[in-house]
Amino acid sequence: MRILITGAAGFLGSHLCDRLIQEGHSVVGMDNFITGDPNNLAHLAGNPNFLFIRHDVSNFIFVPGKIDAVLHFASPASPNPKSPYGYVNLPIQTMKAGALGTHNTLGLARAHGAKFLLASTSEIYGDPLEHPQSESYYGHVDPIGARSVYDEAKRFAEALTMAYHRFHDIDTRIVRIFNTYGPRMHLDDGRVVPNFLQQALRGEPLTIYGDGTQTRSFCYADDLIEGIVRLLYSSEHYPVNIGNPVETTINEFATTINRLTGNPSGITYKPDERLEGDPQRRQPDITRALDVLGWTPKVSLDEGLLRTIPFFKSKLGIS
Ligand code: NAD
Ligand code: UDP
Repeated sequence: MRILITGAAGFLGSHLCDRLIQEGHSVVGMDNFITGDPNNLAHLAGNPNFLFIRHDVSNFIFVPGKIDAVLHFASPASPNPKSPYGYVNLPIQTMKAGALGTHNTLGLARAHGAKFLLASTSEIYGDPLEHPQSESYYGHVDPIGARSVYDEAKRFAEALTMAYHRFHDIDTRIVRIFNTYGPRMHLDDGRVVPNFLQQALRGEPLTIYGDGTQTRSFCYADDLIEGIVRLLYSSEHYPVNIGNPVETTINEFATTINRLTGNPSGITYKPDERLEGDPQRRQPDITRALDVLGWTPKVSLDEGLLRTIPFFKSKLGIS
């Protein structure tokens, strides 16, 4: 296939480019670098199976030649208002990437008769009242809360994707991605993995927002990409959760990072920095991914973090 990947210079988009090229496909990567990094794609320069187009997906998209599949990953993704990359600081761009960007990429898929895959998120469940979260849960989301620019854009994107599927018969997929980490996350992204790893490798205390009892379930990037590729090759049109169901408190997570990096500086609590609407618990129910795709994650948290640490060390110039 010839596949368009939007958000190609980002953390997940760049790994997808690599994986799909490895599978023998030809990839067109698109990005405007608002939160991405051209270095994530530098190794693909000159690759005959890769073409890069710098473009904002909120504007009409033109791609020369035939496209067989469109994977829409372009969107800021970090909730942290302390980061310049946090979607709270990019509210209009985030809503446009989710709304106009999804409209434009669906339109392109329709014009080319291409498959379409939307990168959605566990954030569409909001601060969930059902635990773990299965795809049938409608969510608990504040439409005007601090995180709403992201949550609501993604909820709109899912609705638009289903509308194109039902009304225009487009061959669509929706993946609901839960917290994923790995090499190529931006150092200043502000999400918990880059923050903690950076602090730990500098020998500083890890900053926990709140009391650290909130939970997340962390999936290593390679596992997630495997799930997405299986979904692309499947014929499942309804949303599928992809994430690691092993739930950990942020306290346990910080302790794990300090243990793996040998950081002696411990933890510091920042109760005032916890973002309004920060979900208290998050854990994917991955029954559908197992049933429909035969997918489960394989990489443990320790193993995934040990694979991620060298990337952050090299970015920080630590040997
Ligand atoms: P990222 O910030 O590393 O990558 C996003 C990429 O999209 C960046 O390269 C950015 O420059 C690009 N982009 C943003 N707006 C754009 C626009 N208007 N036009 C063109 N390019 C644009 O984040 P990520 O973690 O790789 O997330 C990728 C996708 O996966 C996002 O859609 C995000 O919502 C989704 N997601 C990620 C996670 C996770 O844990 N990493 C969880 C849930 C959902
Ligand atoms: N968090 C933290 N310290 C940090 C960054 C994040 O304690 O330096 C917490 C944050 O409050 C949240 C969890 O870690 O409860 C995961 O945050 P992240 O920004 O990675 O994304 P989220 O899962 O909230 O979308």
